[in-house]
Amino acid sequence: MSRVYNFSAGPAVLPVEVLKEAQEEMLDYRGCGMSVMEMSHRSSMFQEIIDEAEADLRELMGIPDNYKVLFLQGGASLHFATIPMNLMKNGVADYIITGQWAKKAWQEACKYGKANKIASSEDKTFSYIPDCSDLPVSEDADYVYICQNNTIYGTEYHTLPNTKGKILVADVSSDFLSGPIDVEKYGVIYGGVQKNIGPSGVQIIIIREDLLRDDLPEYVPTMMNLKLMAEKKSLYNTPPCYGIYICGKVFKWIKNLGGLEAMKARNEKKAAILYDFLDNSKLFKGTVRKEDRSLMNVPFVIGDKDMEAKFVKEAKEAGLENLKGHRTVGGMRASIYNAMPMEGVEALVAFMKKFEEENA
Ligand SMILES: *Cc1c(COP(=O)(O)O)cnc(C)c1O
Repeated sequence: MSRVYNFSAGPAVLPVEVLKEAQEEMLDYRGCGMSVMEMSHRSSMFQEIIDEAEADLRELMGIPDNYKVLFLQGGASLHFATIPMNLMKNGVADYIITGQWAKKAWQEACKYGKANKIASSEDKTFSYIPDCSDLPVSEDADYVYICQNNTIYGTEYHTLPNTKGKILVADVSSDFLSGPIDVEKYGVIYGGVQKNIGPSGVQIIIIREDLLRDDLPEYVPTMMNLKLMAEKKSLYNTPPCYGIYICGKVFKWIKNLGGLEAMKARNEKKAAILYDFLDNSKLFKGTVRKEDRSLMNVPFVIGDKDMEAKFVKEAKEAGLENLKGHRTVGGMRASIYNAMPMEGVEALVAFMKKFEEENA
């Protein structure tokens, strides 16, 4: 067996410890003679798995009792619609556009009400986070929406927007559990797990109880009725059982490492190694304004397409995979999520140094 350092933006690297545990339990989960993949979602065995996953997530993030935790399906992309359908009481919401995912969420919201773009960084290819200290938040906005970490562009909010008392909704797909957050500052925190937590197919929605409504529009599909999903504790229908099981293992992995404070310290250390190198490199250059850099996704360029293709190819040969940048940014991108070990980032920087010397 040989494992590469996988810098994929998603689905992405998972902790080896978790994969090994899952492997050991694959055929016979704790003496029940079957795999978690094969068991009824109504069984007490599975109930224990989902309850424990929720309890561990609540503990890790410090989720208050008046927030519901849902494990759903459909991709973050489905919930671009779920959010406005459930939260647009006045039919108005404000969106801050910091990349393609925020833009797609805004486009979706436009179908269900009046979605205002109140700030954007599209003028500079989303290479920064706009100043959100005094935005023209709409008087009747039901919520203000952000994409907290911009997976494609490598920017991240280091200060939350001033929503002027409105509810904050955040897509945290690519920075979920990368560090502590104050849940009470949000009305909804949601995201897919395939970047930083588990296999694709699971979405986690953390929503303040009082935002769940009985008076949803008729057209809202049953599966997108968050109040119903909360009442049924994510078991209205068959949930993504195996994915939830792996997420639960990752929660425990993070707890064992010391929780979200420790995770953040680890992530900061990893990112610093790469950013410090980029800041001093004569060949490579980061694409993001310094103060808005993401701890998770690090895009960089050489500025010469052939040289960049050569870099990605040779990196792959050296066991450093999935470094090609997103087509809209070009160049390279290293996603260094929670499960990327320090050694992976060190290996990448050592390789970049060598490449720089050879191609000076
Ligand atoms: C990947 C990603 C999405 C889309 O997730 P799907 O599961 O493919 O729908 C949405 N938002 C962010 C921030 C992402 O990184």
